Amino acid sequence: MAKEFVKDVTSMDEDFAQWYTDVVTKADLVDYSSVRGSMIIRPYGYALWDNIKNELDRRIKETGHENVYMPLFIPESLLQKEKDHVEGFAPEVAWVTHGGSEELAERLVVRPTSEVLFCEHYKNIIHSYRDLPKLYNQWANVVRWEKTTRPFLRTLEFLWQEGHTAHATDEDAQEETIKMLNVYASICEEILAIPVVKGQKTEKEKFAGAKATYTIESLMHDGKALQSATSHHFGTGFAEAFGIQYLDKEGKQQYVHQTSWGFTTRIIGALIMVHGDDRGLVIPPKAAPTQVMIVPIAQHKEGVLDFAYELKNSLSNVVRVGIDASDKKPGWKFNEYEMKGIPVRLEVGPKDIENKQVVLVRRDTLEKVIVPMDQLETKLVELLDEIQANLYNKALKHREDRTSVALTLPELKEELETKPGFIKAMWCGELACEEKIKEETTATSRCIPFEQEQIADKCVCCGNDAKQMVYWAKAY
Ligand SMILES: [Zn+2]
Repeated sequence: MAKEFVKDVTSMDEDFAQWYTDVVTKADLVDYSSVRGSMIIRPYGYALWDNIKNELDRRIKETGHENVYMPLFIPESLLQKEKDHVEGFAPEVAWVTHGGSEELAERLVVRPTSEVLFCEHYKNIIHSYRDLPKLYNQWANVVRWEKTTRPFLRTLEFLWQEGHTAHATDEDAQEETIKMLNVYASICEEILAIPVVKGQKTEKEKFAGAKATYTIESLMHDGKALQSATSHHFGTGFAEAFGIQYLDKEGKQQYVHQTSWGFTTRIIGALIMVHGDDRGLVIPPKAAPTQVMIVPIAQHKEGVLDFAYELKNSLSNVVRVGIDASDKKPGWKFNEYEMKGIPVRLEVGPKDIENKQVVLVRRDTLEKVIVPMDQLETKLVELLDEIQANLYNKALKHREDRTSVALTLPELKEELETKPGFIKAMWCGELACEEKIKEETTATSRCIPFEQEQIADKCVCCGNDAKQMVYWAKAY
């Protein structure tokens, strides 16, 4: 077989990191740019992001939020206003010091996140209880000067949405924080077929300036965790620093209670590492830019291409369908669309046309089925649903297989070595224990899950009374 159309991918068991790099580039998701740590998102990668973005944007609007756009630059003095926030972000911000050849009177930060801009704006537009709640969201790029970078997972610049809201009461802000965490979980589970663990971050891992941070955590094929989205409850911390007050119904000045929540292009990294295999990407049908790719067989024979195009036209009412009628060999096309993770390949040739049938090949299991033409639409829709469900169940089973329990620190270490994944262990709530676990195992606390289990009475690290069960894992 001619090697030219076979795109080799490193086996994931051999070298997972190299497998990842091979897949993101060979599936045409990204290209490297001349700026270290910055990626070019290619049309196929962007189409995937567009699908995810559209689904999320619809849900953000359905829950009552409005989209806005804030400036890219933040004056240094504005970033300085909230002490914890600036300390958290200062090490990784990019500075603008000159405009043209002139040095600026005040340095500007390229936004690493936009809390302070929203706060400044909210101070100007919120005066009365009638102005609340304010439910704003923006789709934008942000910049964080990361030392080590990998496409999608950690890049100097990435795309995201950031929601910023202001409420009259603490309860309202808390409800909002959890509501949006649930929206994120629904995108991951229903669209991306990625099961998530919902929980709260520890004090150490929470967002700089937040009262509480909530997270959804997912488990990758290699047993490492990935924080898939976060939602923060700010309390009145930012409002006090920025003076965001409203007059309540009794005529008293009150500080607003705020939240923020974000979801980024990082999720594409999760999608790749949860579902991918040695042939490349596997994209769940609901997220796939193209759900079905038609590959004509013996397309030089009379009638084949006409038939294939007619098929594409009729199917386009039911599924997102593409056709590759290029003069590349069918074998090259098979490899290409397996690499790109397109959920179903549809093959049709002269014999199939004669027999009034087509061949469907599903990407997740590589199974082939012959389907009579008159049942094609129904079967395709069923098959896409089946693939979506199968990918979710497979990922869930993988997570369950890779979730262990540890009662002592040596056990925790042992589990991480022999079966990398989530480790459930009890914790006393002390920072010292959390730091010790990280130092000795490199695992971090992923979250204090909402679904608690009393697996022991004592802290896995110090042996003192435990307060909560925590999910620990090595993470991206
Ligand atoms: Zn402890």
